[in-house]
Amino acid sequence: MTDRRVALVTGANQGIGLQIAKDLVANGLTVLVGSRNLERGVAAASEVGVDAHAIRLDVTDPASITAAAERMKREFGRLDVLVQNAAIMTTRPHPGSVVEYARATRASVVSLDEMRAVWETNVFGVLAVYQAMLPLLRATPGARIVNVSSGAGSLTIASDPSLPYRSHFSPLYAASKTALNALTVAMAIELEGEGISVNAVSPGFTRTAMNGYEGVETVEQGAAEAVRVALLDPGGPSGGFTHATFGTIPW
Ligand code: NDP
Repeated sequence: MTDRRVALVTGANQGIGLQIAKDLVANGLTVLVGSRNLERGVAAASEVGVDAHAIRLDVTDPASITAAAERMKREFGRLDVLVQNAAIMTTRPHPGSVVEYARATRASVVSLDEMRAVWETNVFGVLAVYQAMLPLLRATPGARIVNVSSGAGSLTIASDPSLPYRSHFSPLYAASKTALNALTVAMAIELEGEGISVNAVSPGFTRTAMNGYEGVETVEQGAAEAVRVALLDPGGPSGGFTHATFGTIPW
């Protein structure tokens, strides 16, 4: 087993995940840069530095998840931090503007096939990676899981008529993050007493490919809360949902 702490970040070949990988390496961790395209993962890992290693991981592909878990165990023998960051808003090349996306994904018109595909990545993929990595997390004292969620998934916010963003709440992406929040609570309950914390974080509206670079935060700002929670001392809070500047977000 290596002496350095080891992190796995899913969907780390670009955007917020790549920045999380950079920040964790800067804090002394060895980071596995998860990427569904290995070449893009290798390019991202070389951008991060010598303590980053690409790993092929498509969260919708059970064989790639199993292979990644086996490689982690064989090569590193530990997993201190699992950051579940990979997600999609749509299977289309571009989501369109925020307003167009909200209009096209209303409950009355959303494509069920599209919804299944998005939830396969954002919800079932997270659960599949959790199940595969849990033995290694359990074998690593003080391990923790960070699920990268979104304030868009907050049912409390979506239910407040005074908040303008509630009109963007849709069954496709936003509700997939609501389901991710539910998974976070279920995982935290399962692991309480085992010393493994599980928390959800919201990056805030960040300039990345996911939203056609319409976001307002930098990737450094978007990564900050995931990195902070990933580096909390052992025995820290579990079952939370937080943002870097807003603090606790209501479920
Ligand atoms: P990006 O689209 O830039 O990055 C998403 C990453 O997920 C990419 O690396 C992508 O890989 C990867 N990914 C997608 N599908 C899979 C899959 N099946 N298996 C493995 N990896 C996959 O978006 P962001 O950086 O913005 O998103 C990161 C996280 O932050 C997501 O969970 C998102 O929901 C969340 N978030 C983002 C916000 C924002 O404003 N940007 C706001 C709130 C939350 P590939 O390059 O191959 O497509």
